[in-house]
Amino acid sequence: ELTSKDYVEYLKKAYVKIHESGDYITELDAATGDGDHWANINSGFGKLNELADSLETMNLFELFKQIGKTMMSVIGGSSGVLYGSAYLAAAKTLKDKETIDNEGLCGVLAAMLDAIMSRGNAQPGWKTMIDSLHPAVECYKACIADGVSEAETVEKVKQAAIDGAESTKAMEAVRGRATYQTDKGVGHLDPGAVTMSYQIETLMDCVK
Ligand code: ADP
Ligand code: MG
Ligand code: MG
Repeated sequence: ELTSKDYVEYLKKAYVKIHESGDYITELDAATGDGDHWANINSGFGKLNELADSLETMNLFELFKQIGKTMMSVIGGSSGVLYGSAYLAAAKTLKDKETIDNEGLCGVLAAMLDAIMSRGNAQPGWKTMIDSLHPAVECYKACIADGVSEAETVEKVKQAAIDGAESTKAMEAVRGRATYQTDKGVGHLDPGAVTMSYQIETLMDCVK
């Protein structure tokens, strides 16, 4: 179960993970895009960390709305709009809830996936952040349906997100800047899928 305070702890850990991957993520976006993905996402998580004390006092609904608004205004680029929409959609699943249980967290990720797919008008397999989130959500749903233990669910969902990000290497881009490359980015990982997998890994490690 996760409270607002736990979720803010997650935001702090995610910032550490993202912050230390600067050179790598910048290189990935430089290869297929415009090289700013790390700077964009890092400034979003940096701002959320500055706001941590006030975020902690909010209920989950307000917290997720505030994260969405902050991401939308601070991250910028395609990913800012997409993460903003994702958090605003997830907030709606958390009205009147004080904690997020396993099914609730699966619901949060599923709402984020739907929002990103509709806002970005994109499908799985199109070499975007969706290619890490979608397999993670599918795996999470299957674990819940099959009654898999929480500890095993955490490991499986993390692995699905990581494998999903890895799978973008072979994909041809249908959305995003990699579509401008003659090879459609084939042979390169999608930076947005990699940072999505970092967030999912860190989040699942916070489940208790
Ligand atoms: P920009 O491309 O505007 O510079 P970023 O570099 O911050 O924005 O983010 C790029 C990432 O956003 C891509 O690697 C991809 O994962 C994701 N992305 C771009 N367009 C879409 C879309 N239409 N749907 C889903 N994800 C997208
Ligand atoms: Mg970019
Ligand atoms: Mg850009």
